Parts: sequence; structure tokens; C-alpha cells
Amino acid sequence: MNSGQRSGHRVGQVKEVTSLANPIVKDIKALALKKFRDQQNAFLAEGLKLVIDALDLGWTIRTLVFSKSGLGNPAVEKIAARTVAAGGLVLEVNDKVISAITRRDNPQMVVGVFEQRWTPLGEVKPSGQDVWVALDRVRDPGNLGTVIRTVDAVGAKGVILVGETTDPYAIETVRATMGSIFAVPVARTSTQGFLAWRQGFKGMLAGTHLKGSVDYRSVDYAGRPVVLLMGNEQQGLPEELAASCDRLLRIPQAGRADSLNLAVATGVMLYEVRRSALSLEAAG
Ligand code: SAM
Repeated sequence: MNSGQRSGHRVGQVKEVTSLANPIVKDIKALALKKFRDQQNAFLAEGLKLVIDALDLGWTIRTLVFSKSGLGNPAVEKIAARTVAAGGLVLEVNDKVISAITRRDNPQMVVGVFEQRWTPLGEVKPSGQDVWVALDRVRDPGNLGTVIRTVDAVGAKGVILVGETTDPYAIETVRATMGSIFAVPVARTSTQGFLAWRQGFKGMLAGTHLKGSVDYRSVDYAGRPVVLLMGNEQQGLPEELAASCDRLLRIPQAGRADSLNLAVATGVMLYEVRRSALSLEAAG
């Protein structure tokens, strides 16, 4: 069915799908599971803003799913046309289908299926004042998404996932990034892979540790690239990663809390490391 001309704007071939048993819908629903995200090398991004951001930043869209309520909406029709022009498929679905895909009662009007992108660790070559964040075995999708968003916000260069981590392309993580997943390069490696890469890194590897003896505010981060290494939520940094750091930094605390939340600690650190690079004037 070609519903693209209903409102007078041609948006190309649009397939109408109303059944959860439709094989394309089944494949998209399967993206809720990492196994199928890996198999299909794909993931979901919900909402007009995210889909537009992704297209603007050159990400490859495979399928655009939109609910009937989006018909006649010029922004939806525009991204439908861009999807078709990019060789993607456009599906017009009912609320039942889009709710099942996003597992939400009040789903967004559009959902995009995009190809995953991973930056090979060998291509991560921090120079100048570059800042990267390395996360050791991060477990929580909300933490990972928040870190990716904060990396984007402070103008750091990217994230290195070390060891077994939660998936940056899980729907919860993508949601928590608020679109920054499309702006922040992500590399992944094992602990040994990171330690080997670290040998060739000539900047500062700044680890954060509850037993660190250096106040994070006492260090001069300027003038060299910095990799900020953050520990796992439950266990912190293992000994071999901690031993590989140039500095082990601590954020002072008062009160009863044992530690800060990982994403909060990363935010505090990033703002200190990037202090001289950030100003309200530069942000316009
Ligand atoms: N029980 C864990 C431990 O013993 O390390 C707590 C880990 S904490 C929730 C997660 C990570 O956040 C830590 O590994 C560290 O990288 C960072 N972090 C949290 N609070 C910190 C603090 N006060 N100083 C330095 N790093 C901190």
C-alpha cells in the first residue's frame, strides 16, 4: 500500500503492517534481546528527534516504523522520504505493533532500526587535549547511557568498554543517552586488550578508586590526552587495571555513602578534566 500520498506528499513505498505475526515485525521485536541485536548488527532508536539526529549524523537506517498517528505529520513524512532515499524500508503500523516493538504503553510515534557502529580500538589514538572514558565491566544500562550523554556534553571524544559490559545498543541504554549514542564513538575490548592498548598510549591514564590517595582536584590534566578509567559498580577497578594507571584519584566524600554512583562519579571527573576547555561563551 502506498500511503505516502495521502497528505499530498509523496514519501515513497510504505508498507502497512498490523499483525504482530508479520516476520519483519518479529525481527524488529527480537532486537529487544542482545543475541538478536548482535545477529542483526542492529538496534532501535525511539522518537523523531533521535531518528532525525541519527540520519543527520550519517547513521544507516534499515527500517523506519511509524504509527498511523504520524500520517500527515510533515516531520514524519520527511524522515520517511529520507529512509526510502537511503534504501530503507518504511512500515506504517498500528499502536499495538509499535507498543510491542518498544515494550511501552505510550510509545513514540516513530522508531528507527539502525545499523550498529563500533570503533576499532586500534583507531582510538588520543592526541592533544583529547579525553576518553574507559569503563570497566559497566553493568547498568542507565549508567552507561548517562556516561555516553555526559561524554558528549563535555566534548570528550568517546568511550572504551572494557571486559563484559552491558550493551550500549540496548533500548534502555539508547534511551538514557538521549541521542548522544549517535555522537559518541564506542570501542570495546577485553581487559587484556585494554592493557595492551594502554602500552601505546602516551597520555595520562587516570584511574578512579575509593582507595586512591590523590584528590582529583589537585591534578593538572591540561596539555596531554587523558583516559579516565572508571571501575565496575559493585567491585570497582580490579588490581591489574588499577596498577596500570598513572594516577589513582579519589573524589572526597562526607556523609554515610560508601561511594558515588558510577555515572555521577564520571560526571564529576569529566567536568574537572575538561574544566579549562569548557565555558559558557564557547557554548554560545
Ligand atoms: N564497591 C565499589 C568499590 O569498592 O570500588 C564501589 C564502586 S563505585 C559504585 C563505581 C566506580 O565509581 C568506582 O570504581 C570508581 O571508579 C567511581 N567512584 C565512585 N565514587 C568514587 C569516589 N569517591 N572516588 C573515586 N572514584 C569513585
